Amino acid sequence: MSVTSIKGFADMFPPESDAFTFMEAKAREVFGRCGFVELRTPIVEHTELFCRSIGEETDVVQKEMYTFPDRKGRMLTLRPEATAGVMRAYIQSARHTQEPVSKLFTTGPMFRYERPQKGRMRQFHQINCECLGSSSPYTDAELIVALMTFLQEIGLRDLSLKMNSLGCPSCRAAYKKALIAYLEGLDTELLCDDCKRRMHTNPLRVLDCKQEGCKSLTAAAPTILDYNCPDCRQHFDVVLRMLDAAKVPVTLDSCLVRGLDYYCRTTFEVVSGAIGAQSSVAGGGRYDGLIKQLGGADIPGVGFACGMERLALLLPQREALRPDFFVVAMGQGTQDAAFGLVNSLRRQGFAGDMSHAGGSFKSQMRQADKSRARFCLIIGEEELAQGKVSVKNMLAEGKEQHSVPMAGVAELF
Ligand SMILES: [Zn+2]
Ligand SMILES: [Zn+2]
Repeated sequence: MSVTSIKGFADMFPPESDAFTFMEAKAREVFGRCGFVELRTPIVEHTELFCRSIGEETDVVQKEMYTFPDRKGRMLTLRPEATAGVMRAYIQSARHTQEPVSKLFTTGPMFRYERPQKGRMRQFHQINCECLGSSSPYTDAELIVALMTFLQEIGLRDLSLKMNSLGCPSCRAAYKKALIAYLEGLDTELLCDDCKRRMHTNPLRVLDCKQEGCKSLTAAAPTILDYNCPDCRQHFDVVLRMLDAAKVPVTLDSCLVRGLDYYCRTTFEVVSGAIGAQSSVAGGGRYDGLIKQLGGADIPGVGFACGMERLALLLPQREALRPDFFVVAMGQGTQDAAFGLVNSLRRQGFAGDMSHAGGSFKSQMRQADKSRARFCLIIGEEELAQGKVSVKNMLAEGKEQHSVPMAGVAELF
């Protein structure tokens, strides 16, 4: 039996691979215009990095990491997300001593050891941007505008941007207290088991529980925006004002929370209504305490991640590019001339092909059709003797044929 791929790991042929290449190119272009440079980090890191950054208590670290010992018994993990590796690289290179603000873009595969199912593979792909070194609200707004511009430029429509502010550690503490008091006043037996457990340890997570029972119980919960201190309020107001000025519509969502303590202030999610139920295509926010928590200086950061598989599902159909030519060779000595013509045209920057197997005129014409080339260039014995090529415009009605000198073929395109 031949060897197959590992469960949860997929191969990607066109059109899917074309879609990924297109999205990556657009991301480099759009984020590049905003001053982001590309950082490529390894896909394997010490397991400890993720335990410290994502948090020991999270599902990702507890159940979903692709972790294994190497030959010397060191515990390694295939990155389950990008931010931790970016932070590690930023700290390790002392980047903050070289520039006050670092804008970093990354793209590539991530890995989660989950039960593989449709739409959820063990290897998946993300586009990430992180902006480190600025606590300014203009930075948050810039990052979100860049993200929305990228999503628009790849052709996504029907998007909405949900936002919330998680405040700072001091005002969030007051909010947590109020939220716990509210939750304790409910009939807590109606909460799901997860929420019963976390209502005291991580009450904010109860707000984004997907269980209908929990959702209806928390519908009237106090909202975190009401507890933002004046500094946090002002920070968020500037972000919203700049988004409004940039004509990016925002929906406030008080249930948009993140469970870890280093998340603060701006948090956001972009959802698409294009494939039935609303689905999240990107999410991010500010994480001012993370770099310090990982052993770096006290440097603020804000960033987002986009799931590329999800984006690929939402991309409008794009017509594949047509090659410029297909060369058909028929008769003694014509294949050498065809090979030379193909190379010469390719070196001049044109795209096209020929059949190395030769075959009948009919079968070569069929291949020319299938390649969707704009022009079919035919070299028969007669053409070869005259130094000419017969040209068929494959896009014209009737596909009239005429001949041109072999040296002048490039002028067709
Ligand atoms: Zn605050
Ligand atoms: Zn729940």
